[in-house]
Amino acid sequence: MKKLNIGVIDLIHRGPTKALYFRLMNANLASIMPTVIAFWCEKAGHNVHFITYTGFEKLEKEFPEKLDLLFISAFTQAAPLAYSISALFRSKGTVTVLGGPHARCFPDDAVNYFDYVLGFTDKNMVDDILQNFSSNPEAGKHLSAKGQPTSLPSVKERWKYIEPTLKKAPVLKIIPMIGSMGCPYTCSFCIDSTIPYQMLNLDTLIDDIRFLRTKFKKPMIGWHDPNFGIRFNDYMEALESAAPHGTIQFIAETSLSILTEDNLSRLRDNGCVAMLPGIESWYELGNKTRASRKTGEEKVQQVSEHVRMVMKYIPYMQANFVMGLDSDEGSDPFELTKKFIDNVPAALPGYSLLTAFGEAAPINLEYQKENRVRPFPFHFLNNHMAMNVKPKNYEWIDFYDHVIDLTSYTFSWNAILKRVSNGTHFTERWMNFVRAISSEGFGRIRYFKQIRQNLQDDHKFRDFFEGDTNEVPQFYKDIVRRDLGDLYAWFPEKSWTYDPQAYLKKTSVIKASALSA
Ligand code: SF4
Repeated sequence: MKKLNIGVIDLIHRGPTKALYFRLMNANLASIMPTVIAFWCEKAGHNVHFITYTGFEKLEKEFPEKLDLLFISAFTQAAPLAYSISALFRSKGTVTVLGGPHARCFPDDAVNYFDYVLGFTDKNMVDDILQNFSSNPEAGKHLSAKGQPTSLPSVKERWKYIEPTLKKAPVLKIIPMIGSMGCPYTCSFCIDSTIPYQMLNLDTLIDDIRFLRTKFKKPMIGWHDPNFGIRFNDYMEALESAAPHGTIQFIAETSLSILTEDNLSRLRDNGCVAMLPGIESWYELGNKTRASRKTGEEKVQQVSEHVRMVMKYIPYMQANFVMGLDSDEGSDPFELTKKFIDNVPAALPGYSLLTAFGEAAPINLEYQKENRVRPFPFHFLNNHMAMNVKPKNYEWIDFYDHVIDLTSYTFSWNAILKRVSNGTHFTERWMNFVRAISSEGFGRIRYFKQIRQNLQDDHKFRDFFEGDTNEVPQFYKDIVRRDLGDLYAWFPEKSWTYDPQAYLKKTSVIKASALSA
C-alpha cells in the first residue's frame, strides 16, 4: 500500500484566541480518540502529522502542503472551524474525515462538508478508509461501527502524540486517560445514556499508570470515563496496584451516589483531588445523587450535606447543574441553587444551559417533536453561549433574568472570597479564583447581559429565539467571523443554516420502513 501523508487534528478550541485562561487550560482538555486514530494510521505504515489545536497554533503552518487524508475531531462548538479547515484542505485535494462528538450528533449536516463522517469508530473502520478512500464532493459517507471499541492502544503506545500537547500546558499538566465507556444510568439528556457500560482492560490501565510514573514525579490524570468508578472496587484495586499512595493525582466525573464515606476515603488515599458530580436539577428525580425521592428544598439540604462530606476528603469540587429543564418553573430552581452556594461555599457550581445536541440523546426527539429546537449556529452550542431549546415554563427574557441573577450571585466578590477562603489547597483556590474572573465567570455575566439586552431591543433577534424566523441574527454572525480569524475565508456560507429536526425526521423514516417491512 502506498505510504500516505495523514493529518490528525484534535480541535479543542473554536478558533484563534489570546485569552490567558485558555492558554493555561486548553491543552488539558485534549481528547483521547484523535491520538488513537493517529496511532492506528501510523501502525498501518503511514506518515502521521498530529496536532492538538488549542487556539494558539497557526493551523496552516502545522501541516505539509499536501496531505492525502485529514482526520478532524471536533465538539459541536468547533464545527464551523472544522468545516472551514475541511474546505481549505479539500481545495488542495485532501480527503477529509470528521469524527468526535459533532460527527455523532449532527452527521446529516456534516456530510455536506466532509468526505467521511464517523460515528462509533474502531480500528477496522479506520483500516478500511486507509485502504480505500475517495473524495465524495456531493455528499460525504456516514460510517459507524456497531459500538465503541472494546480496547484502545495504551498511553505508552500513544505517548508521542500525548506528550507534545502536555508540553503546551504551562502550569497544570493533566494526562487524559479512560478506563470505561458508557454508563449504566439512563439520564435522558446524556450522550452516554444509550451506550452500554464496559470496563476497558485493567492490566493496560495499570501498565499505563506505571509508565506515567516514569515520566512525572506525581502525574495528574484526568479520567475521561463518562461516569468514573462504577465498578469501584475493581478500579481502586487497579490504582492501588499501579501507584503507592501519594504517587499520582487524579480528577474525575462521577455520580454523587458513588461518593459514600467509605469510597471517599479510598479515593482520597488513591490520589483523587477533584470531582465533578452532576446534580443537574432540584426538581427532576434521579437516583444518581442519592436523593432519589427528594425534590426542592429537601433535596438542597440533603445534597449540601453530602457535598460537605465529600469535601472533607476531596479538595476540589465542581457541582454541575442544567438550567432551563422542563421540570423547572419560576424563581425557585435558581433560589435553591443560591442556597446550595451558601450551604457549601467551597464548591464551585458549573452551569449548563439546556442544549439539544442533534441526535446525542433520546430526549432530543421530544424537543424536536414539540418544535422547540432552534437552529443556533454550532459555534454557540457549548452549553452556555446559547440555549437551543425553547424553555417550557419561561419567557426568554424572564429566563435570562434568572440566569444573570444566579451567575452574578455565584461570581459576586462575596461568593468568590468565601469560595477561595474555604478552599484547603493552594491550587484549588487559585483555580477557583481564575475561573471566576475569566470568561467563565465575569465574562459569562457580561455575555448573558448582552443576550438579554438584544432580546429586549432587537425584534429580529427575539424572533429568532421565538422561532418566527430562522435567519441567523447578525450578532452571532459577527462573533463567528471574529472568532474564526483568517480561516473565516473558508467558512461555507450555506452552513449558517441546518435542519434542527433532522434527528426526528430520520427516526420517523426508520420507524416507517420498519413497519412496512
Ligand atoms: S450518570 Fe452521568 S454519564 Fe451516566 S447517563 Fe447520567 S449524565 Fe450520563
